[in-house]
Amino acid sequence: MRLGLNFPRRAFVSAAACAFLALAAFSVLAQDPPKPEAHGVVVANMDPSVKPGDDFYHYANGSWIKRTEIPPDRGQVGVFTTLADLSNKRTAGLIEEVSKANAPAGSNIRKIADLYTSFMDEAAIEAKGLAPLRPHLQAIAAIRNQHELARALGESLRADVDALNNTNYHTPNLFGMWVAPGFNDSEHYTAYLMQGGLQLPDREYYVSSSDRMRDIRTKYQAHISVMLKFAGFTDTDTRAERIVALERAIAGKHLSLEENEDIQKANNTWKLADFPAKAPGLDWTEFFRGAGLVNQASFIVWQPTAFTGESALVASTSLETWKDWLAFHLIEAYAGMLPKALTDERFNFVGKTLSGIPEQQPRWQRGVALVNGLLGDAVGQIYAQHYFSPEAKAQAQAMVANIIAAFRRRIEALTWMDPVTKAEAQAKLTTLYVGIGYPETWQDYSAYEVRADDLFGNLWRASLFDYHREVARLGLSVDRKEWCMTPQTVNAVNLPLQNALNFPAAILQPPFFDPQAPAAVNYGAIGSVIGHEISHTFDTQGSAFDSKGRVRDWWTPADLAHFNAATAKLAAQYDTYKPFPDLAVNGKQTLGENIADVAGIAAAYEGYRASLGGKTAPMQDAFSGDQQFFIAFGQNWGSREREAVLRQRVLTDGHSPDEYRADTVRNIDSWYLVFGAKPGEKLYLAPPDRIQIW
Ligand SMILES: [Zn+2]
Repeated sequence: MRLGLNFPRRAFVSAAACAFLALAAFSVLAQDPPKPEAHGVVVANMDPSVKPGDDFYHYANGSWIKRTEIPPDRGQVGVFTTLADLSNKRTAGLIEEVSKANAPAGSNIRKIADLYTSFMDEAAIEAKGLAPLRPHLQAIAAIRNQHELARALGESLRADVDALNNTNYHTPNLFGMWVAPGFNDSEHYTAYLMQGGLQLPDREYYVSSSDRMRDIRTKYQAHISVMLKFAGFTDTDTRAERIVALERAIAGKHLSLEENEDIQKANNTWKLADFPAKAPGLDWTEFFRGAGLVNQASFIVWQPTAFTGESALVASTSLETWKDWLAFHLIEAYAGMLPKALTDERFNFVGKTLSGIPEQQPRWQRGVALVNGLLGDAVGQIYAQHYFSPEAKAQAQAMVANIIAAFRRRIEALTWMDPVTKAEAQAKLTTLYVGIGYPETWQDYSAYEVRADDLFGNLWRASLFDYHREVARLGLSVDRKEWCMTPQTVNAVNLPLQNALNFPAAILQPPFFDPQAPAAVNYGAIGSVIGHEISHTFDTQGSAFDSKGRVRDWWTPADLAHFNAATAKLAAQYDTYKPFPDLAVNGKQTLGENIADVAGIAAAYEGYRASLGGKTAPMQDAFSGDQQFFIAFGQNWGSREREAVLRQRVLTDGHSPDEYRADTVRNIDSWYLVFGAKPGEKLYLAPPDRIQIW
């Protein structure tokens, strides 16, 4: 679980459905990077006219929010995007540097340079037109029957979803695969299959009867028609109508995000022979042949009802409609790598209509995002050498140790928990692997061919390279120290099946982490992030796994009943948050992240107090150490988002909107002591209503 920005969820902020598109969401220098001379909370960002007990988020960030505009080429701006800008700028500098090196063919450095060059050579891209796409469109046009359709659908399978680490449940392909330690055999890599088939971000976009969603669907249909016309299709309005109808039918079979997060419901082992019986319609033999998976004995099928429903649709919908669907999905997937007319049309729909972003990012920024997406570890290796010092690593490690120790004491002190349950919880902390800055081993790109004059081919080969690498891992022993995030990513993540955490170098810098800032500020900012990720080990999903990463019920019934009652109260608290009059936060969909936020602050605060060793923290800017701690935490979340982006996030993200993440201090007793929040103030909760789970 990440910390949280666009789509992926188990991380601290969410990421996005497709690596390079997701990364493209951040970029452009919206604000100057944090000023190096300032160490501590940023007083100029606060609004002292707001009472902390009424609105802690605006108290900590109000002045910044008032003076900050969202740049025209992005959907949101905040601490995460500002740091991502810095990371991207540095990455662009590294790419420029390595491009001059004229490195030997086949080396990582040469691949970075050639991939970037292939993206920046717009004249070559225009000259080729749609030629790179033609053989693939012809292959789709040549499909004659259901067998060949099934084969083509299998050939489109990619390792492009991720249920528990970077959390991305979305793939436009019919299904998606995730390779990870098995639910029932955490020692070996297992194939998980997940529902797919939609271009729009979630089933809600197809099934909702709201005016807004109807309008999006109308514009989506027009967009499909335009894209098909570019590719030379006739009767494009009729085809577009059929494609939308098919996706709407698929959406009707999909599980909601809230249902997807239920581990027990997802743990369904299907043997190869089970597919035709449990999900008749699709020719599964041909599908798995196309996917290169005929030797895979079994799979974990995340949403069995969706597989049954989607498979039946393959048989009941006309072959011509499926071929149009395949063609459109192909064009859409590569539109950003094709001539400007297609790139612009895709941005008009995905950027402007879906996210309300007026302008596309400059090409160089999209190029950096692409290189990060396809050669992330190759870039990350150089990035870590340049931008992450051994001193920063040692200091971050010490903070992690302090916060884990705080967690141990908190578990030991829980009055409601049985000693047997406590022992396994402690064992989970003992076996937890914490990666700081960068991984111990790097991805091997030797089998990935990059050519400076072949952007489309570079993308096509990358998606196959990724897929083949994942397929090759099936059945092998799990490397618990493997990372799922690059060092240049501004985020953090908990990997529940590996019982591991990753804290990339790019988040371990100001304002999150500043070796020269007071301890209070570092614990409030990065410490709460560290506490958040540790807490995922014990959230609604994390607690389903034992110290070895196995799905195992290690709770006594009484402990589980207590945990469920407390988490239900937290879900109900978040259900009351309404970013728009017609749209509320879904407390269940965001429960795991909300538990991690509350428990994360509590553990970070205790770690901070312990780090003082009995001394009183120095005042800074007239704030006590405890005040600085909470303000620094609140300033993690200062952000502005476009309405369309925020609405999309409420529907598709496991993280709550930033404002409510900051306001969750209302669950922490010490926050009341520090800021004197009183009954009658908007955030005030009576002691029994404050949720303290860990
Ligand atoms: Zn998280």
